Amino acid sequence: MRIVSGMRPTGKLHLGHYFGVLKNWIDLQENNRCFFFIADWHALTNKYKETESLKENIKEMIIDWLSVGLDPEKNVLFIQSQVKQHSELALLFSMITPKSWLELNPSYKDLKFNLYYQYLRDFFLGKNVKVLQTPPIKKVDEALEEATGKQKNKIYDEYLRELFFRAFYNKRGIDFKGLKENLMKLGLSKKIVEEAIKNLETGDIGKDIDTLGFLSYPVLQAADILIYKADAVPIGEDQLPHLELTREIARRFNNLYGKTFPEPKHILTEEAKLLGIDGRKMSKSYNNAIYLSDNSKEVEQKVLMMKTDPNRIKRTDKGNPDVCIVFSYHKLFTDKNTVENINVECRKAGIGCVECKKLLADSINKFLEPIREKREEVKKDIEKYINVFKEGCKTASIEAEKTMEEVRDNMKLWKF
Ligand code: SF4
Repeated sequence: MRIVSGMRPTGKLHLGHYFGVLKNWIDLQENNRCFFFIADWHALTNKYKETESLKENIKEMIIDWLSVGLDPEKNVLFIQSQVKQHSELALLFSMITPKSWLELNPSYKDLKFNLYYQYLRDFFLGKNVKVLQTPPIKKVDEALEEATGKQKNKIYDEYLRELFFRAFYNKRGIDFKGLKENLMKLGLSKKIVEEAIKNLETGDIGKDIDTLGFLSYPVLQAADILIYKADAVPIGEDQLPHLELTREIARRFNNLYGKTFPEPKHILTEEAKLLGIDGRKMSKSYNNAIYLSDNSKEVEQKVLMMKTDPNRIKRTDKGNPDVCIVFSYHKLFTDKNTVENINVECRKAGIGCVECKKLLADSINKFLEPIREKREEVKKDIEKYINVFKEGCKTASIEAEKTMEEVRDNMKLWKF
């Protein structure tokens, strides 16, 4: 099968990336023709102001990819911006893609929603607004009666989110009028609501993604995939709507100009099993990640900071590995017998958390050791490995050009 997938170069990669994406690619490379690309144009869609780190991030990604075992002999590894045909196809696709397909794209809406929601929440909290004095929904009313302090805030938070969500998704674009009405139902004063909405309508919130590039990035994504006539794309469940858009664009193109593109299927990848050391999703912005490039000391320190079973306070307390992040890591990194042993001993306080964490740090370091060795090798000879990607770009360009010739012919475009 032909497989296409890319990754945005936004910084060094962590274990979450490894188990969420790279491990899957490494499996796929054995029996498929894979095109894996560093999506540097996509990194610009919302980070267009931060180009000074882009080249470094690309280099870092080259090192990360090669050190985990992506094999340039088995795959075409390349950098998106060096295969200009992607942009030509994206431009042609943009001619046939209705604007509404993009405006209704869930990730575009979700991102806007989160930015706006965050703003409103901070605005009301900043104004010290007491809300939900007259909650219109019975359930919320009852919940509030029983709630105290922080719980009240949480209910308010969820309720605001729910109302905002409804207003936001009622119509195409952002329904400021509906939002205002819903906020008023919260018992907020008209003056404050009007001020908040005015700020949203006229302020800078979300302006960074109010660009043509951000709105149309699914079109570029469709070009990235279809230009290699991919049979399948490995994606997480949240990416399914994007791939559907790619399929719709392929269908529309085929209907207009004759059969040119296949409709790629998805290969559903499992959700990354790894949480960050604080129990939230592993992410650079939460500062809770273990990086592929971390040395053994850094790994040890991070593992010692990991959250454990919150009910196990003293060494003599019996623990529950099922709710412990450390244990979830053990299941991935540690040998079966040791995992079984921890599972039994933790429950009868036979092992302490510090000892358990030391075992885990050893396991992670054992896993990372060959990756570190390969990193050193790649870093020492980085120019050679950059050239590997340059060769990949040439191979990708040849493939992409073949498709583009067909596209231009089928569209009956000018040819000398
Ligand atoms: S002993 Fe290990 S599995 Fe049990 S609570 Fe402590 S860290 Fe978690």
